[in-house]
Amino acid sequence: MREAAVSDVDVFVRRESQVRSYCRSFPAVFRSARGAVLIAEDGSEYLDFLCVAGAANYGHNDPVLKDAVLRYLAEDGVLASLDLHTVAKRAFLEAFERLILKPRGLPHRVQFTGPTGTNAVEAALKAARKATGRSTILAFTNGYHGMSLGALAATGNAQARRGAGVPLAHTVFARFDGYGEGDSLALLERQLDDPSGGIDLPAAAIVETVQGEGGCNAASWRWLERLAYLLHTRGILLIIDDVQAGCGRTGTFFSFERAGIAPDLIVLSKSIGGLGLPMSLLLLRPELDLWQPGEHNGTFRGNNLAFVAARAAIERYWTDGAFAQGVQARGDIIRARIERMAARHRGLSYTGRGLLAGLRCSDPARAEAISRLAYRRRLIIERCGPHDEVVKTMPPLNIPIEQLHEGLDRLERTVDETMP
Ligand SMILES: *Cc1c(COP(=O)(O)O)cnc(C)c1O
Repeated sequence: MREAAVSDVDVFVRRESQVRSYCRSFPAVFRSARGAVLIAEDGSEYLDFLCVAGAANYGHNDPVLKDAVLRYLAEDGVLASLDLHTVAKRAFLEAFERLILKPRGLPHRVQFTGPTGTNAVEAALKAARKATGRSTILAFTNGYHGMSLGALAATGNAQARRGAGVPLAHTVFARFDGYGEGDSLALLERQLDDPSGGIDLPAAAIVETVQGEGGCNAASWRWLERLAYLLHTRGILLIIDDVQAGCGRTGTFFSFERAGIAPDLIVLSKSIGGLGLPMSLLLLRPELDLWQPGEHNGTFRGNNLAFVAARAAIERYWTDGAFAQGVQARGDIIRARIERMAARHRGLSYTGRGLLAGLRCSDPARAEAISRLAYRRRLIIERCGPHDEVVKTMPPLNIPIEQLHEGLDRLERTVDETMP
């Protein structure tokens, strides 16, 4: 196997902050990208099963999305606009209402926040606290919601939490589905209803249906339904953080659709901007939209290139159910192939849902070796989970089936290579 050619990375090492992380595992210097392929400056091609952590759900440089953006640029379309009315924003809102919200019976208002997922999470937490007059947020083990202080307080990971430098307050943690023995919701219910249970009535619970960073842990539909009921009957708002699991990644546009629940607040980011352009949304039930004008503000709430790409993505991929079916079919392929690998190797198992899935290794060192050796086979595949023990398969949602199998072939050969 030929090693990736050595590129000039001196300036990154010399000048860029130590905080950089992904580039340490995948140190090539990339020049261009198309679909599921990233091309380094030495011409070598990598299959991308990381996809910007889910911000490139439609693959890189989707030609239809890119054309829409190029046309908008050529016409001197407004690029940055705060929250001024623009033609691009209107077209996005109309498409989002017509093709996403209305068909799913969601009456929610759309709040444009600053362009990062964590900013939209902050907005959700603030909106829930404002609407209820309560301060406590209920979060779940292994949850990940972002790096700003409010979102970080609801994030489980100790290393991320340590970076805060201040106490992370006003959050209590409950067990996610499958965490530990017994019925996690029965315990939560008892604690909430027990005058000595130690939990102040929360404003809201924030939860991912599939924990993207926390190990591709998928909550069952039944667990989500029971959680929604438990919260609803106690006046606790339900925030679904669909930043990673949403936008089709798990097989439906919103990850909770098949659970039959109606979240009060929904957070979207990562792939909502279509081409990987920064954009984030908070969807609020109309009665929770209690903001004073400008109360949650942000200069870059008006990224019109992202509006153009987002609209193009919705109109290209979400006019009927075909795209979602394609995601489910690809998810089935990943599941079958990972289960086949797990059947041949001790200590491996499948985890996840749809195309937010992975290979769980009982030994984290093996997951590290798989990711490292897969890179030598020109497959970019990252890890997640509390011990980085899950090798996470996140190809584009529209990856050609042949290419999907090619990536899984490389993964399988790597798994065989790391047989203890
Ligand atoms: C990535 C992510 C966030 C944070 O988004 P940023 O854009 O990195 O701030 C929040 N929640 C989930 C579930 C995520 O995967």
